[in-house]
This record gives sequence, C-alpha cells and structure tokens, in this order.
Amino acid sequence: MPITPTRKVWLNGDFVAWEDAHLHWVNPTLHYGWGVFEGIRAYQTARGPAVFRLDDHVARLYRSARVYFLEPKLSPPELTDAITRTIAVNGLDDCYIRPLLHLGHGEMGLNPLLSTVEAGIAVWPWGAFLPEESTRRGIRAMVSSWRRNDPNTIPPAAKACGQYLNSTLAKVAALKAGYDEAILLNTHGQVTDGPTENIFVVRGRTLVTPPLCDGPLAGITRASVMRIATDLGYEAREDHLTRTDLYLADEVFLTGTATEIVPVVEVGASPRPTRQPATGSSTATSNG
Ligand code: PMP
Repeated sequence: MPITPTRKVWLNGDFVAWEDAHLHWVNPTLHYGWGVFEGIRAYQTARGPAVFRLDDHVARLYRSARVYFLEPKLSPPELTDAITRTIAVNGLDDCYIRPLLHLGHGEMGLNPLLSTVEAGIAVWPWGAFLPEESTRRGIRAMVSSWRRNDPNTIPPAAKACGQYLNSTLAKVAALKAGYDEAILLNTHGQVTDGPTENIFVVRGRTLVTPPLCDGPLAGITRASVMRIATDLGYEAREDHLTRTDLYLADEVFLTGTATEIVPVVEVGASPRPTRQPATGSSTATSNG
C-alpha cells in the first residue's frame, strides 16, 4: 500500500515538514543496518486516538536498543510523549507509528559505538498491510526456504533494521511464487513466525504458538491474543511447531501490529498457480 505523506516528522526533538525529513547519505545505519525500530498502531475512539499498548512497544524498542548498544538520548517516557505529540501534530486518529533509533552522521565503519544515537518518529494512515481482499477471505502462505535468523547470528529477539533483510527475502520469495505471505522455520526446522507476524495454529479449543526460544519476536499482538483467548475459555499455550503442524491444524492465523489478525487458508510448500480460496467462513488449511 503506497504511503500517504503526513505533515510533520519528529526528528531529535523537532518537528520538520514531511518532505524535509532527510538524513545524510553517508550514514552508517543506511550502509550497515545498525538501528532499531518499532511498529505501532493508533485507533480512533470516541475520546480521540488510542495507541495500542504504547508502553509495551516503547519498552520493546529500548530492549532492542540494548541488544545493539544504542543509548537513546531520550528516556522511555520522553519518547512516549514525543509519539503522542507526533500523532496530535499530524491531526490523525487511525494511524501507523514508526519510531526509529539510528546512528548519526559523522562516523563510518563497523564500530557503531563511535556514533551518536539519533531518533525519529513518523506517523501515517495505513489500512490493511496485506491485500484487503485476501485479509478478509484469508491468505495463502508459503513455508519459506529462507530460515529465520539464528539467535547466534542476528538475534530475532530485537527489531533491528538490518535484520529485516531476512524477513524481506522470505516475503519476496513468497510473493514471486504467487503467495501472499511467507512462514519461516528456524535452522532446526521449527516454525518461528511470518516476516512481520507471529503465527498461531488452532487445534480444537487450543491455540498454539511457537515459544520465544524457537526464534519468533515477542509480539505484542501475540500476547494480547493469548490473553483474550484465555479469557474466552480457550487454552492458549506455547509449543514447538513443525511444518506438518501447519498442514494438520484446524486453523492457522497470523498476528501483528501492521497485519492485525489474518487467517491463513492455505499453507503451500512449493510454487503453484494462484488459486482463490473457497468463499465461506472456513479457515481450515490445506498443504501444497
Ligand atoms: N514477528 C516479527 C518478525 C515482526 O516484525 C513483528 C512485527 N513487529 C511481529 C512478529 C508481530 O509483533 P507485534 O504484534 O508486536 O507487532
């Protein structure tokens, strides 16, 4: 979905016009991917925009920063305040929010500890992350031949800029093969997550999602889904999943801030011609 420019971007404490939110081309984050970010959503309510679990997102941003030795100049409450002000300045209700911590201009090379740590926040209206129609009817996902980053290569517990090359390779391979989305396995063959989503399988009244030690991000939507499911009387638990668990599940769905909650109606293992999922309410999966 093309991005809709908004009025102002927050950069290091100042609001600048959207079209003036530039960084210098000689910037180590651009060249080496050393930066961390968050994806957050605000929703319109009768009392104005409500940011979904903002404190949890800010806490995760600062955890990601710790993994990468980034020391933001702002405290978490100050960044939280900057996020809410950025939404207000742009006059938005429903919106996507992207805070990012990156390295400053002036140093290059592979020692990020020499650089300053800069911060920016942009907000923009963003509807369905996956195609609107497929979101409603369910998506077709492919088990990717790209494996999720191993915790001892690039830690999947953090949301670092360069780390998303891994997700993007899987996503592009799935799109080129005619699928809507990828599902990644770790180097041991266990299911981890989607490029930007956590994954759940449903068996009867039990929801199962991979444990964090298998490599998924500690998704905030994932945590909410587990809590809501438990409150509704379902069992929601973490367990290792293999690709056959996806094929044999009663239902499979993805969760994430951008994606929200999307049913997976087909899990294919190899390229095949695009086929419309059957109309109707069933989200049962079939393997390819
Ligand atoms: N896994 C990955 C790799 C992600 O990038 C995201 C998006 N942040 C998720 C899962 C879902 O996490 P959340 O629900 O917190 O957006």
